[in-house]
Amino acid sequence: MHNIDINVNVMTPGPEMEMVRKARETLGEGGLKSVRFPEPLESAFDEYYREKTLKHVRVALLTGFILYAVFGLVDGLLLPADRAHMWFIRYAVVCPTVMAGLAFTYLPHLRRFMQPVVSLVMLVGSLGIVSMVYYDPTPTKNYYYSGILLLIMGAFTFVSLRLRYAVCWAMATTLAYEAVAIFFNHTDVTILIQNTFSIVATIIIGAFSNSLMENYLRRDFLNANLLEYENRQLQNATLELRRLSISDPLTSLGNRRQFEVMLDQEWLRAVRSEAPIALIFFDIDFFKFFNDNYGHQAGDNCLKLVAQELGGFARRPGDTAARYGGEEFVLLLSGVGLDDAASIAESCRKAVEALQVPHSHSPVARVVTVSAGVAAMCPDRDASRSQLVEAADKALYRAKLKGRNRVVSSKKEPGKRVRQVYPHAVN
Ligand code: GH3
Ligand code: MG
Ligand code: MG
Repeated sequence: MHNIDINVNVMTPGPEMEMVRKARETLGEGGLKSVRFPEPLESAFDEYYREKTLKHVRVALLTGFILYAVFGLVDGLLLPADRAHMWFIRYAVVCPTVMAGLAFTYLPHLRRFMQPVVSLVMLVGSLGIVSMVYYDPTPTKNYYYSGILLLIMGAFTFVSLRLRYAVCWAMATTLAYEAVAIFFNHTDVTILIQNTFSIVATIIIGAFSNSLMENYLRRDFLNANLLEYENRQLQNATLELRRLSISDPLTSLGNRRQFEVMLDQEWLRAVRSEAPIALIFFDIDFFKFFNDNYGHQAGDNCLKLVAQELGGFARRPGDTAARYGGEEFVLLLSGVGLDDAASIAESCRKAVEALQVPHSHSPVARVVTVSAGVAAMCPDRDASRSQLVEAADKALYRAKLKGRNRVVSSKKEPGKRVRQVYPHAVN
């Protein structure tokens, strides 16, 4: 049955949206403000960050792998004597670890561990360089030291490590480098200070870029959330408006507009399938007297009761019960011929009478009753739906003339002869 089933309210901003709006205010217009969202927003952002940076991480690991491998050729040129050590570190330890890290990013169910795993991969890479500094007895070790600076920049920007992981990784790398430089290589203090200064400066610049990137991602995340919410709100508002525009607020049945839309739709279907279509118009008898006697509020309640009763007869897809206006209702029945429609109308009439709503001022009964006019036709392309509406209306008029509280069928089919297709259950 085609009673209105869309029941969505226009959304007011929920607590989650308030949270997103506040978070956006906290984030401000940009800059380096360090922000943590309240839960569950922060966890959602963690996931968003992971998904957004996944491609970067993969590209960075692959690039790191290639660079690490290619720099091995330089080892060969710089350290012809001791390249076995260097190559072992590069090709037997670091490169396979980077490849394993890359493979790990393709395991979606373990992706929440991606940041710590990538940090570990980076640590293997940086310790590899530190150990090359350790193994290299010649001044070329400074060449490896520049590799550390490169890795620091990469960790803070290219690999998209979260700041906390990048800082922990950078501290471990720096400590390892300092330990090797001080305790094993006995590096000159001036060079040590200079190198340490460069490392710290690179870390600061890296941390700055990292925070800036995270801030942009946080704003993207909030905007995407707000946009999605606003879209949802708009969709709900549209549905609600549609619902309001086709429903009768008092009885919750469809209104006249809904009836007309459904009549158009079912009419076309009937033409296509050469099936009959029936209309029953109902009018509550002497309803003005009812209102005058019992008051408008009681009148409203009575309309609701009658509407509920008649609505129950729109049982199949293609059936529609609607309030046509005032105290008039209409039942549209698809695939139903005149005789069956008349039987259904009679069942409706009896059902309203059985409600036993007292109507002491009705000249026809002690209770509220309805008159009904029935028409049906098997429409073809030349027929018009107004013929059917007019026929049902005229039949209702005759029912009233004949004394009300009765069903009258349209004498002859408007348009073509009705061919009965689906017998309709009659109460
Ligand atoms: P008849 O038997 O010839 O149909 O007479 P009637 O009194 O039922 O019809 P009439 O057209 O004279 O009066 C209809 C009444 O229905 C008048 C109006 O106050 C009442 N009515 C229309 N809409 C509403 C409504 O939404 N609530 C209430 N309580 N009454 C309504
Ligand atoms: Mg009327
Ligand atoms: Mg009436």
